[in-house]
Amino acid sequence: MAECIFCGVAAGEVSAEKVYEDDAVVAFRDINPGAPTHVLLIPRKHVPSLNKLVAEDDEAVGHLVRVATQIAEQEHIAESGYRLVANCGSHAGQSVDHVHFHLLGGRAMGWPPG
Ligand code: 5GP
Ligand code: ZN
Repeated sequence: MAECIFCGVAAGEVSAEKVYEDDAVVAFRDINPGAPTHVLLIPRKHVPSLNKLVAEDDEAVGHLVRVATQIAEQEHIAESGYRLVANCGSHAGQSVDHVHFHLLGGRAMGWPPG
C-alpha cells in the first residue's frame, strides 16, 4: 500500500471515481467537491509539491493541462468557464503532498480566492 493517498489512487489501491488515466496522468473526482465539477489531476510520479518539480516533469505537467481542457469539454464546462488551480504550501492550503491540480466548474466563482 502506497504511503501517499494520491499514489494509492494512481495505483488503484485507493478507490476513487476516475475520469481519465494514462501512463503519465490520472484524473478523478474530488471526494469533497467544491463545485458541480471538481476533478483532481495528478502526475503518476510522486512529486510532493509544485516547488519540487524538475525539468523532467515538464512533459507530464504540460500534458496534464491539456488533459484538463479535454475533461472540461467532457464535463460541458469548457464554454461556461472553469478554474484550474494548484495549491502549494501552507498559505495556499495544500493538504495532500502530491502535486495536484483542481479543475473546478459548473458555477460562477469569485476572484481573488479567499
Ligand atoms: P489541496 O487542499 O491539497 O489543494 O487539495 C486536496 C484535495 O484532495 C481536497 O479537495 C480533498 O477533498 C481531496 N481529497 C483528499 N483525500 C482524497 C481522497 O482520498 N480521494 C479523493 N477523491 N479526494 C481526496
Ligand atoms: Zn504520491
